[in-house]
Amino acid sequence: MKSAGSNSPVWHPFTQHATAPSPINVASAHGVYLITPEDDMILDAISSWWVITHGHCHPRIVAAVRAQAERLDQVIFAGFTHEPAEKLAQALVELTPDGLTRVFYSDSGSTAVEVALKMALGYWRNIGAPRSRIVALEHAYHGDTIGTMSAGARGVFNAAYEPMLFEVMRLKFPHEGAEQEALDQLEAICKSEPVAALIVEPLILGAGGMLVWKAETLAEMRRICDRHEVLLIADEVMTGWGRTGSLFACEQAGIAPDILCLAKGLTGGHLPLAVTLCSEEIFEAHYSMDRAKTFFHSSSYTANPIACAAGMANVEIWKEEPVLERVRNLQQMQERRLARLGSDNMFTNVRQCGTIAALDLIVKDAGYLANVGPRLMEFFVGRGILLRPLGNTIYVMPPYGIDPDQLDSVYAAIAAASAVVQSGGE
Ligand SMILES: *Cc1c(COP(=O)(O)O)cnc(C)c1O
Repeated sequence: MKSAGSNSPVWHPFTQHATAPSPINVASAHGVYLITPEDDMILDAISSWWVITHGHCHPRIVAAVRAQAERLDQVIFAGFTHEPAEKLAQALVELTPDGLTRVFYSDSGSTAVEVALKMALGYWRNIGAPRSRIVALEHAYHGDTIGTMSAGARGVFNAAYEPMLFEVMRLKFPHEGAEQEALDQLEAICKSEPVAALIVEPLILGAGGMLVWKAETLAEMRRICDRHEVLLIADEVMTGWGRTGSLFACEQAGIAPDILCLAKGLTGGHLPLAVTLCSEEIFEAHYSMDRAKTFFHSSSYTANPIACAAGMANVEIWKEEPVLERVRNLQQMQERRLARLGSDNMFTNVRQCGTIAALDLIVKDAGYLANVGPRLMEFFVGRGILLRPLGNTIYVMPPYGIDPDQLDSVYAAIAAASAVVQSGGE
């Protein structure tokens, strides 16, 4: 596979250019496959960083984008509106949990979370009872801007920016058996000081290592937030659009958050678009003859019409194609293959949340462990499979249309990786 060339001026995300192999050039994509200029096929088993839900270049989304691009490309969204944004917002209010009545557009998961945090603080200030304390989960990931990094876990990824990050209260991760401890801690924090908002990734923490937690714990957190009038922000940037087995993860807990962040799968993964939905109460707190209570946030491409059209096409696919059936199908296919791999004693912490399967590779060789993620990725890509482990955590998160044979090839590669590590190298 040909590289994009080391003389490229491009600086890639989350990439150590000194050690990373040359990037792989992708010319086209179709279904679950990425296709290089040399016609090599790479099976996209992580949905191109968790965004592609219905497969690459779904014809319906392609058609919607093409039609919209010819009609209206972009327009300022302050003082103006357009049909794609209006229609999509209406559809989102209907699809999401009850009580979320207002839709604020932005363009990435990070901005959706920034908007959520600003809405929460704005709410408390505008009702005349300022609160700024945010509570977040251990191992959380909410984005890479300063505000979202602050809410996220601290580590090597953000050590350089630490002086700029604001303090949040950190809840212990409610892993199996430790749920009550996390809940007690939340209760204690809420009692000891006014908390503006609790922010969580419902049911599964993504970038933190595909850590699964229970819907009942989320339901209990909702009750604690209610008791102490704390806003609950659900960051469903990754979990939304079927990933956890239901359209939105919050449904499994039977709860509605006060603020909901969606991005990644919102356009089926075709174009960058994000939304932050909120309750009428939060909107009302900003609704005033007093200009100082305005929600002061915008980005140049707020509600870009082409992206909104892609979002609407995604909604129509959900309504008219058997997407939930595909989701359940994938869930079962993952379950069976995980069970088989689980008996390989090179793997531990085998886990699943809806369509997402994850397991940890046991690595005894400390030299290998130091750089295990990138080394595994190189191994997989060499076999035509795009997997990008988080350290020694291998996860499979493919588009929903993947067929059994394609998924088998992913698991065959994972089984082979275990053999490679066992034999001490490639
Ligand atoms: C990916 C992700 C984000 C950030 O989204 P971007 O579009 O990459 O900015 C935020 N929260 C969660 C849970 C995510 O998985």
